[in-house]
Amino acid sequence: MTVQTFSASGVRWDLGDLFASHDDPRIQASLADCLARAHAFAQRYRDTIRMAGGPGPEHLLAAVAELEALEGDLGKVGVYADLLYASDTSRPEHRDLKERVELAATEISNLVLFFDLEWMELPDGDAQRLLSHPTLAGYHHYLRQARCWRPHKLSEPEERLLNERDNTGRRALGRLFTELTTTLHFPFRTNGRLQDLTMSEVLARTYHADRDVRRRAYETLFDVLSRHELVLTSIYETLLQDHLTLDRLRRFSHPMAERHLENEIDAQAVEQMMAATEANYGIAHRYFRVKARLLGLPGLSLFDQYAPVGDALPACPFDRARDMILEAFDAFSPIFGQIAQQFFGKRWIDAETRQGKRGGAFCASTTPALHPYILCNYTDNLRDVMTVAHELGHGLHACLARQQTLFNYDTPLTTAETASVFAEFLVFDHLVRTQEDPRVQLALICGKIEDTFATVFRQNVLTRFEQAAFERRGKGRLTAEAICEAWIGANRPYYGDAVEMTDGYRWGWSYIPHFIHTRFYCYSYVFGQLLTLSLYRQYKEEGPPFVSRYIRLLEAGGSDSPASLLMLLGVDLHDPSFWQKGLDEIRGLVARAEELAGELGS
Ligand SMILES: [Zn+2]
Repeated sequence: MTVQTFSASGVRWDLGDLFASHDDPRIQASLADCLARAHAFAQRYRDTIRMAGGPGPEHLLAAVAELEALEGDLGKVGVYADLLYASDTSRPEHRDLKERVELAATEISNLVLFFDLEWMELPDGDAQRLLSHPTLAGYHHYLRQARCWRPHKLSEPEERLLNERDNTGRRALGRLFTELTTTLHFPFRTNGRLQDLTMSEVLARTYHADRDVRRRAYETLFDVLSRHELVLTSIYETLLQDHLTLDRLRRFSHPMAERHLENEIDAQAVEQMMAATEANYGIAHRYFRVKARLLGLPGLSLFDQYAPVGDALPACPFDRARDMILEAFDAFSPIFGQIAQQFFGKRWIDAETRQGKRGGAFCASTTPALHPYILCNYTDNLRDVMTVAHELGHGLHACLARQQTLFNYDTPLTTAETASVFAEFLVFDHLVRTQEDPRVQLALICGKIEDTFATVFRQNVLTRFEQAAFERRGKGRLTAEAICEAWIGANRPYYGDAVEMTDGYRWGWSYIPHFIHTRFYCYSYVFGQLLTLSLYRQYKEEGPPFVSRYIRLLEAGGSDSPASLLMLLGVDLHDPSFWQKGLDEIRGLVARAEELAGELGS
């Protein structure tokens, strides 16, 4: 079997800052230490939080700080096991370590579970008194947020039971999905030679200049996936049922309710945003028609939507991508440039493609005590430059927020994309500015439009699909046919009569990891992108004063709710015209593409 190599070959991360190897004795020692501390924590604090009148503020502070330190140390082992597993999912010792760490984490979280429950059970009056106490000011947001879950918690033995059963339930199904999809082989003929491709490699070919390559890439992708119909359907359908069962037990009124609570956003703002996005699908149809003209086609087929516009864009080796990203970040703020430089210089990034490695891209930032790591699969096209910039944006956010403590570190999903999308735009504008050939500019703008569509319109479609799948599952067991129908139904308004969907596309839902691991994640992309488009416009209008306020927003991490933190930048999430402003920016990009295409005679 041949695996194609790219310029990032050899760009592997160095996990040595965490542990030396899967059998590093410090891993076992750390797990044992965490376990001992969890026992001691339980002994010291059990029944001291939920006491008449509430605990003293100093006592509560000591408990929170101990818990935070424990979770930080456990997080280090957890992130190492996750990253090692992502480097090569096929190695049994990686799987074993991940499983061992998950089991230990479960045991530890069971021991300390009482704390959240006792804090939640405290009557509102007592809790309020503590929340307004200056001693606890550093944990105000964390403590207040923890009580939001009050109506949805079960009793301690019930929580414990669910947590244990999840290892052989939803988490096991998630592992099965990952192992299946990362080890699939996609037989693909290139110049008469049959190669076995990984999923990221076959997906990279859907961006190929040759229409026949793109068509075959889609056909191969969906053909291989459809042969796993039984497993993929069963995993998804079971997870939906599991989700609905938990919603019933936890008294969530709606399948999205838990995600909204986590995201610290209300259903009304999300629905407003989704409806505004749908009302602007016409922008997409307009662009698809320009694109068909540019490609010299009477109309677009699904496999044409990511076709490169013209042949003006050269391949981009990894070193060149690094240089461009650093220049663009530096021009925004030297702070951005310096932080990003470390990811390359200190090997915090794993960019090469290889068999067994996890597909896609992510940035892992578990605790402020550790620097983040980035994984991507760099295949030498310009789209990958944006992916690296995106993940580095996450990395910047994580590095800047390291001044927060662990419980104030993470942002909810809704604002998790604020820095990543912003970083992508910085790199995009830098690229366009440094080009003189209008053909190259047009190609770049089209690429940006398509990336933005993928983040805004497509993620809206994915969310509508999940809503439809959940609605159907609420009425009874789902067949593969019903899931495929829900998928096509959610896609139809987006593509309209501007793009023809192919037969195989029915299976388009079956490989998307978000549906398995983080249901209803996708609307956060829409949120993050539209929010950032508005912020980016603000930056261009205001210049340097914006930069320092924006950096302050990133440094704040998750120390307050998104709505409060965004007020730093003058954003009101419940202003109905707010979403339209972001969408108008996309309309502006499409208008620029139409203009350039006209000048070039298309
Ligand atoms: Zn992201």
